[in-house]
Amino acid sequence: MIEIRSHFSIKEYNTFGISAFAKAYTSVSTIKQLREVLAYYYNEEVFLLGGGSNMLLLNDIERPVVHVNLKGIDLLKQDNEHVFVQAMAGENWHEFVIFCIENNWAGIENMALIPGNVGTSPIQNIGAYGVELKDTFVSCTVMNIKTGDVKTLHLEDCKFGYRESIFKNEALGKYVITSVTFKLTDITKTNDYQLKTSYGAILNELENLQIEPSIQSVAQAVINIRSSKLPDPKVIG
Ligand SMILES: Cc1cc2nc3c(=O)[nH]c(=O)nc-3n(C[C@H](O)[C@H](O)[C@H](O)COP(=O)(O)OP(=O)(O)OC[C@H]3O[C@@H](n4cnc5c(N)ncnc54)[C@H](O)[C@@H]3O)c2cc1C
Repeated sequence: MIEIRSHFSIKEYNTFGISAFAKAYTSVSTIKQLREVLAYYYNEEVFLLGGGSNMLLLNDIERPVVHVNLKGIDLLKQDNEHVFVQAMAGENWHEFVIFCIENNWAGIENMALIPGNVGTSPIQNIGAYGVELKDTFVSCTVMNIKTGDVKTLHLEDCKFGYRESIFKNEALGKYVITSVTFKLTDITKTNDYQLKTSYGAILNELENLQIEPSIQSVAQAVINIRSSKLPDPKVIG
């Protein structure tokens, strides 16, 4: 069952806090709802909304807005040193990073505090402080907007480059990304994990903090550096 709201303000859902109205707005929290709303709007072009941090809304949105709020994080499998973790598209990226750090899963700590949601992260192959999404990306599941079919795209299918992917090119407007699977290192099982501290001011910040390098402290250093450079969008759009 989907609920369609008309003339709905999405001020709260874009980080600039712009008071734009959506002609129609639906939040989806299940795959079934997503398929249903896409079928309902078969003849229209929908406007997908994730964390709303990479859009500057200059006018009201004349397309139906579909807010991808699929939630959940699953440990799919593990081997000697690695875990395969799937996060649903509507999970907040930074909260996912923190969740992984708390579980001693390494690989995305340098990307703490990047705004947005997990489901949007493959579109521009997000990256920061020497690490990119593609470094730990295994696959993503996508739903075809016109057919509702779901399939898995693997690393090589996504054609990642610097802030680039298939989703900005030949697959533009074709899919809703519904989940992303990562291969992370379980640092309780290996001593071989190499922290990436050579980029930017991370080492300086670790010295300032006077703490040993670890996935926790690297994330904290990145959070401190980013917070000193950029305002909190919850305070200043
Ligand atoms: C202050 C600031 C700092 C930033 N720093 C970095 C940085 O360090 N590194 C970096 O790489 N990026 C950075 N970005 C960019 C931003 O973090 C990324 O573009 C992020 O992936 C946007 O996620 P979002 O969920 O907010 O996307 P949204 O703004 O919600 O959507 C972006 C686009 O993706 C589409 N979309 C949304 N959800 C889906 C979906 N599930 N499937 C398919 N399409 C979808 C939307 O229609 C829209 O076209 C920064 C942005 C800001 C504002």
